[in-house]
Amino acid sequence: MNVFINPGHAAGGNPDPGCVNTAEHLRECDIALTVGSLAGKFLEAAGCQVKLLQSHNLATESPAYPSVTDEANRWLADVFVSIHVNAGGGRGAESFCYWKYGAGGRLAACIQRQLVSAMQAIDNGYLDRDVKERKGLCVLRETYMPAALVELGFIDSEDVRLLKEHQEDMARAVARGVTDYLQESLEGIKN
Ligand SMILES: [Zn+2]
Repeated sequence: MNVFINPGHAAGGNPDPGCVNTAEHLRECDIALTVGSLAGKFLEAAGCQVKLLQSHNLATESPAYPSVTDEANRWLADVFVSIHVNAGGGRGAESFCYWKYGAGGRLAACIQRQLVSAMQAIDNGYLDRDVKERKGLCVLRETYMPAALVELGFIDSEDVRLLKEHQEDMARAVARGVTDYLQESLEGIKN
């Protein structure tokens, strides 16, 4: 299985670091890259082929900023996962898909379930904000394969502790969500 991982925003924060918590020295682009890379390692250990690309989201491709969705489509990824961090002072995880009742919706639900259960075991204030449809997100709209975008937590709330200290647990949960989805899909084919 080919799993494409897209840590959100631009590599090195240039030109777009995503959301930032200056007091805690945290940037969304860095958290997404660490969690995405670790999730990739777990998925490789589980037998998946993994490709990771963090790139500034331009409408047109350029050598400096390759298009994430074109790369995923060209690579014939089976699954696409984009990793982000929220801002705005809430708590917990939410996952987005193009259509809730399609394969992307099932993928998002598997990741959401694993992430919520892993983080609530550490901090019961971490909320399950559920799976939501977002037709406007280009990584969900322009990808040909099942795609999900997960928000790991809020950079400006008590989630900060989890985002700082539990990146590996988050990565493991994201990877388990993907393998749950692959398992479910295989069982669907058998039945
Ligand atoms: Zn983001």
